[in-house]
Amino acid sequence: MTPDEFRRYGHELIDWIAEYLENAERYPVLSPVKPGEVRSRLAASPPQNGEPFGALLRDVNEVILPGITHWQSPNFFAFFPSNNSYPAILGDLLSSGLGVQGMLWSTSPACTEVETLVMDWLVEMLGLPERFRSSSPGGGVIQDSASTATLVALIAARERATRGRSSRAGASGERLAVYTSSQAHSSVEKGVRIAGIGSDNLRLVDVDESFAMRPEELARLIRADREAGISPAMVCATVGTTSSGAIDPLGATGAICREEGIWLHVDAAMAGTAAVCPEFRWIQDGLEYADSYVFNPHKWMGVQFDCSAFFVADRSALTSALSIVPEYLRNAASESGEVIDYRDWQLQLGRRFRALKLWSLIRSEGVSGLQEMVRRHVALAREFASWVEADPEFEIAAPHPLSLVCFRHKGGDDVNRAIMDRVNVGGKAYFTHTVLDDRVTLRMSIGQRRTELSHVRAAWEAIRTAAMG
Ligand code: PLP
Repeated sequence: MTPDEFRRYGHELIDWIAEYLENAERYPVLSPVKPGEVRSRLAASPPQNGEPFGALLRDVNEVILPGITHWQSPNFFAFFPSNNSYPAILGDLLSSGLGVQGMLWSTSPACTEVETLVMDWLVEMLGLPERFRSSSPGGGVIQDSASTATLVALIAARERATRGRSSRAGASGERLAVYTSSQAHSSVEKGVRIAGIGSDNLRLVDVDESFAMRPEELARLIRADREAGISPAMVCATVGTTSSGAIDPLGATGAICREEGIWLHVDAAMAGTAAVCPEFRWIQDGLEYADSYVFNPHKWMGVQFDCSAFFVADRSALTSALSIVPEYLRNAASESGEVIDYRDWQLQLGRRFRALKLWSLIRSEGVSGLQEMVRRHVALAREFASWVEADPEFEIAAPHPLSLVCFRHKGGDDVNRAIMDRVNVGGKAYFTHTVLDDRVTLRMSIGQRRTELSHVRAAWEAIRTAAMG
């Protein structure tokens, strides 16, 4: 591709993206294709000679688009949102254009320094504890996902619990345990497996009637492990569980961790963005106890995947677990101790200039733009919940402090599954389910950037129609 062709197709592609995003609600939200259908319609072997980019765009329109589930549709109410935004897309494009690999400060100082700056901005915007600022012993770093951030936290916690023996001597002989609520995300168990702690050593703490972790149960499990000679390594609390949006009590959980000397990691993957509004900052009460914290700007905030904001209170706990300095990476800046080398804060060596998309979003929307979006979604969720409450055939299944409403038809599991399938196949909206109190429960997750009252109203109508069979 020549520079002129790049300019031409680049403009065309930007127009295509704007057109797509402005009209995403035209498409059935959940892709209707059958397994293998997309691949079967594309060339089976690579072309011997290069093709014009226009040929690829044709395939995008004819084959790829039908195979897309439209996460950017305002009628997307499934899982949690995975929003993009124009400024973040441009930031990503700039990152691709610069093609920087910022593993060390010296391999592109701006890549590191913008990331440090923007992570400090998040501390300020969300009212996070000062110990997560780069000017403290702690700091923030962008990880690819909350799952990775939780794994990194586990590795640092394991290092601390074994006083460094786990990384020096492999299996330290010490049996470690990790605690999280029965409602926590599956990434905690995955991390426990990868970190070599083992699923058998993951304790699932009971929850209360609002699906939040019971601190007294946590304390009991820790006591039982200590008596059995097992060392508690980490507690993972959740702010906004995936199933129901439950918020674990960070204050009481943190006090136990402090007293017991256990690493507290807090996973606020979806809900964390809400703290941009002062009236929702109560969800972080007790966060000052946390050793590490993660939330996903790639969910609600509007920075397209991947962008997880991970903070630690003591960066040396990370670097002592993850830093290995081979000769070929030695350089004067790193040895001066004056710079951050983010490679020591993550699993992989290489890293993209991901901070650009977050920086671009925040500069373009301002704090007030993000607050407006969060408030709108929470208000829409409250309105939706009021319709559910007013309908004698439906009931609310869990508290809904933010933008996720869990509800169900009173007719039982089969009726709820049928409602979900009918709405999703119809293509006008897409939502997913969970199980709460052993009953199939529908999740209305409101958080797509373009979702307005009319979309929520249409989804509710589709649900009620589906309930009629
Ligand atoms: N934690 C919670 C509470 C989540 O809801 C999710 C995803 O929905 C995750 C972790 C995993 O996020 P990621 O895809 O960034 O690993």
